[in-house]
Amino acid sequence: RKFVFVTGGVMSGLGKGITAASTGRLLSNAGFDVTAVKIDPYLNVDAGTMNPYEHGEVYVLKDGGEVDLDLGNYERFLGVDMTSDHNVTTGKTYQHVIENERAGDYLGKTVQIIPHITDDIKRRIREAAEGTDVCIVEIGGTVGDIESMPFLEALRQFSHEENDEDVLFTHVTLVPYSKNGEQKTKPTQHSVKELRSIGLQPDVLVGRCADRLDPSVKEKIALFCDVPTDAVFSNPDVEDVYHVPLMVEDEGLDEYVMEQLGLADEALPGDER
Ligand code: ADP
Repeated sequence: RKFVFVTGGVMSGLGKGITAASTGRLLSNAGFDVTAVKIDPYLNVDAGTMNPYEHGEVYVLKDGGEVDLDLGNYERFLGVDMTSDHNVTTGKTYQHVIENERAGDYLGKTVQIIPHITDDIKRRIREAAEGTDVCIVEIGGTVGDIESMPFLEALRQFSHEENDEDVLFTHVTLVPYSKNGEQKTKPTQHSVKELRSIGLQPDVLVGRCADRLDPSVKEKIALFCDVPTDAVFSNPDVEDVYHVPLMVEDEGLDEYVMEQLGLADEALPGDER
């Protein structure tokens, strides 16, 4: 089984969810059975009690689960039904670990974020991915947030427990224009530095920008963030978010991801997708 972890840097509302869903869609077009997990690093157990004006509409799943609206994107982009197990929150994880602690499951042990919470996070990801070829895991929030630390640590451990070829890290960042019309890479550099300081090296970088990234900008990002230039992709502004899979496909994101995950030989040929 393959896992694609999608993190975000610089700021929220970047298009991390849409990038993750688009990656999933392209892999599903290539003939793979794809599912997704959304991680929300808040203490609410689910989104059911959250103010829709602050957080966006609550999305209700077939099993009655009240979840983050990103799950709606995943269901629509991937054409699959999900369950509440596909939305992992800090609240759910802590609730489960504390219930186990009260039931005496860890008797004698000190219950800690590492390993008890991180183990529970890894278990939830593996369970949600069961029976599929690829699981896209989006980590809500921005790298550097205190709330997302246990999740990023769990992913770091996860990547060591799996084969190198089975795990890919995609990092989505913002590439703003300066006043004189230049695409600026510094926010991306800082955000990758932050990611690397917690032990995660991205394999793929996606720059959200008003336009496609200039080839020289991709080269600069590659150089400073220690990835090959062909691992840098653009996610430009589009009128309709359903065009994002086409934009990233055009730059070869799907081919690159499949190559890295060792899926290229099993993928449907381009004209059958
Ligand atoms: P994040 O997961 O980073 O918070 P989302 O994927 O939820 O971000 O996207 C935030 C908002 O930006 C959504 O309203 C989404 O429809 C919009 N969006 C995402 N990507 C694009 C794009 N390439 N062009 C235009 N709007 C986009």
